[in-house]
Amino acid sequence: MDAHLARMLTSARQCRCCGATFAQLLSLGCDRPDLCPEDLVVQDNSAILAQSGDVLTDDFCRLGDLRFIRAILALPIANSGGEEFTFGTWANIGADDFETYIDLLDLQDTESMGSRPAWLANAIPPDTASPVACMLHMRPEGQYPDLQISEPNHPLATLQTAGAQLEELLELLFAYGHDLASLVYDS
Ligand SMILES: [Zn+2]
Repeated sequence: MDAHLARMLTSARQCRCCGATFAQLLSLGCDRPDLCPEDLVVQDNSAILAQSGDVLTDDFCRLGDLRFIRAILALPIANSGGEEFTFGTWANIGADDFETYIDLLDLQDTESMGSRPAWLANAIPPDTASPVACMLHMRPEGQYPDLQISEPNHPLATLQTAGAQLEELLELLFAYGHDLASLVYDS
């Protein structure tokens, strides 16, 4: 593993905005798709079937004709021996896939859906162009499905393919307001 990265991963240094360490900031979450209004209250998952109209739950969102499910976008970290940076984000999928996913989730069998086209429903980092075309890969045992960026020249596709360098990760965190100086400047 890259020595500087190894020091950052074990460093007790805290973010100036939230007090989290670098290791703790390797997963970030979006609580709703960007299109979902902030005033829509997050409900229990059962509300998606029990209610009509616009609904936001922990893992599902219905807005007009649009359907979203919670998903993971993972960026491998370069020279890290397998560490990942993960976003808990949202995927916009077709209405038929949405119904199938909900049915199969109860049976813990979403993996049988294989891979489906989807749109990344959060701009990552914020204020970048969206939505971004993806493939959504289903995973076993009720794990959130994995988003793979399909647009080969998109910056996130490059990070997914090549792995994110430490400086790129720090830049990404800074775009979310997390301010962790690189330890390189200590020595
Ligand atoms: Zn922070």
